[in-house]
Amino acid sequence: MSNAKTTKQNEDQVQNIVAVTCNKFAPLAEWTRLFEAAGANVRVVDIDDASIEVEDVAYALCFRPQPGRLAQFPNLQLIISLGAGVDHLTADPSLPDTVPIARMSTDQTRDQMADYVAWACLSLLRDVPRMMQAQAEHQWDHFSIGRTAHDCRVGILGLGAMGMSAATCLEKIGFQVKGWASRARPESAIACLWGEEGLQQLAAQSDILVCMLPSSPALSGIVDQSLFALMPRGAGIVNVARGEHVVIPDLLAALETGQLGGAVLDVTPQEPLPAGDPLWDHPRVIVTPHLASVVSMSAAVGHAHTLIGAVERRETPTHLFDRVKGY
Ligand code: NDP
Repeated sequence: MSNAKTTKQNEDQVQNIVAVTCNKFAPLAEWTRLFEAAGANVRVVDIDDASIEVEDVAYALCFRPQPGRLAQFPNLQLIISLGAGVDHLTADPSLPDTVPIARMSTDQTRDQMADYVAWACLSLLRDVPRMMQAQAEHQWDHFSIGRTAHDCRVGILGLGAMGMSAATCLEKIGFQVKGWASRARPESAIACLWGEEGLQQLAAQSDILVCMLPSSPALSGIVDQSLFALMPRGAGIVNVARGEHVVIPDLLAALETGQLGGAVLDVTPQEPLPAGDPLWDHPRVIVTPHLASVVSMSAAVGHAHTLIGAVERRETPTHLFDRVKGY
């Protein structure tokens, strides 16, 4: 074996490869710079680079990789999702089922989500859809809503990392906040209901319902006509989870009758939302393009560096996706 080849093998042994999703907003050079700045002992490559040595890829930091691509890395030790949800990974039938998946969760992503949900709830409370319509029509539509955040009850479906961050922020603003999770949470600082009965109770007690649940077949369509009917007349809906959670025809029907007063949707069943979709022009709906919480490259690298460090020390990394629970 030549000296050059031995030296390369030694280098490869100390420098595991991390294969990263690159695009014009997140170029390879910037990922490389950030991993170097973090002091990570890894070689950074573009996950779509066909010339990379697939055996040397130990980590993938990715969002919606090409179906089948992750299965091509035989020595993959950890998949790090660039999103909090992992549905963009599990949708690939060839996803290696023995490689752990870590979810993106940083102070920044949780804070961004809290900011967005606070903005959405305040927008529904102050009837921003009405203000936007009046502005578009050049109408001086002066009105009073006669209530403050202290009078407004917000129900959060899903009191996980994001849900808890949003709930805490809403409470600080003055909203009355309760949550709903998969089990009783007597230790929770936010009152938490659970089960079918708990869901119905929460809907009946919520002026605004915020969906922050994970993607799962069991939770698809959970925010539907049956919940809207239980809510106080004129209530609001915020969806920052996944489009599949809210039944859009039911939402439109409830807005039509006035049972619902407004909705803020960061996620929709089809993304991007098709140009002809009625949600775009609905006077009671605010649509945003799935941007409630988008991790920055530097925060993603900081999170990845911590997770990779745990794997290298043979510790269990944090924020692992539980394949049995489905989130
Ligand atoms: P977590 O996994 O941390 O929390 C999920 C929560 O949902 C937990 O409280 C869990 O209950 C609850 N839950 C799960 N299954 C059920 C069930 N069957 N019945 C009742 N409650 C249930 O998720 P995150 O907080 O990190 O993320 C929440 C959502 O936000 C995800 O859908 C994610 O994709 C989305 N998201 C959206 C973004 C955007 O920009 N729009 C950005 C980031 C995330 P328990 O506590 O009992 O386990």
